[in-house]
Amino acid sequence: MQCKKCNGELEVARSCRRVRMRCTSCKEEYQIHEVANELDDKTVSILERYTAIIYD
Ligand SMILES: [Zn+2]
Repeated sequence: MQCKKCNGELEVARSCRRVRMRCTSCKEEYQIHEVANELDDKTVSILERYTAIIYD
């Protein structure tokens, strides 16, 4: 996953009950629905894990 602003790498950032994608380079945060069309398999599997934790 790449940042739309700087092409840096996005990582999954979880805070409380919300999960965002955050750029490791410029620190821009994206809501999941903003990048939903671009989610790759790796990111989806991470998100599924977080969802399991959140709703457990
Ligand atoms: Zn960025």
